Amino acid sequence: MDIFGFKALLISALIFIPFEHLFAERAQKIFRKGLAVDLIYVLFNGFIIKTAIVMMAAGALGVAAILVPQSITQAVSGQPIWLQVAEIILITDIGVYWAHRAFHNIPALWKFHAVHHGIDELDWLGAFHSHPIDIIVTKAISLTPIFFLGFSEASIAIFSMIYFWHTLLVHSNVRVSFGPLKWLIASPQFHRWHHANQREAYDKNFAGQLPFLDVMFGTYNATGNKVPEKYGVDDPIPSTYFGQTGYPLLPRRKLSSRAAPSTEAGG
Ligand SMILES: [Zn+2]
Ligand SMILES: [Zn+2]
Repeated sequence: MDIFGFKALLISALIFIPFEHLFAERAQKIFRKGLAVDLIYVLFNGFIIKTAIVMMAAGALGVAAILVPQSITQAVSGQPIWLQVAEIILITDIGVYWAHRAFHNIPALWKFHAVHHGIDELDWLGAFHSHPIDIIVTKAISLTPIFFLGFSEASIAIFSMIYFWHTLLVHSNVRVSFGPLKWLIASPQFHRWHHANQREAYDKNFAGQLPFLDVMFGTYNATGNKVPEKYGVDDPIPSTYFGQTGYPLLPRRKLSSRAAPSTEAGG
């Protein structure tokens, strides 16, 4: 089993490095600042997260076996695989949306999520650059309904693959047009405007995979073809892996203004 993610890292690198080279959104080096730290995120952080998800899944499935009537789980797992996968994407992304929005709007949570926004040069590898608590909480919120409803193992496995590649794609430094599909499927343009360190981009585009959720909940940032001026945050985030994982736990220092609860209608 690829528990440390070496194989996934290798395959992703073989796909995304040439892809970003051919369709670069902005000129960036492969051996960029923070590359070594991001490799620790992929391998070590990834191991912590996978272990937590396996434990969480076992716990949730155990509780679900007691609480959820078999008539429900059998009806859910009896649906065609494609329909189950579509339902999983919708249900999990509603969870991702609200968890993500909470991580932005609650100052104590923002300190964990600020680590992900600390990326200055956005590329596919940045997809892994998140505080483990950020990912574990988001996974717990988004995946628990999936385990409770009894979706089939095959549909969860297909969803996991789609989610993995989609997350890498939306972080990648590529210029690809999704055309009218941009409302349905999150594009790199959609997510890079979530990472832009510009006033008009703050607290927008929270969805992981389905941009229409942001349209529905009033947080969609229609940016057309504009390229962000800069990424990153103003927070004083350390540059090492352990500095970053310890950062939210340290006594509060200066926080950027974006950590303050938003006064806008959209949150
Ligand atoms: Zn965010
Ligand atoms: Zn991101």
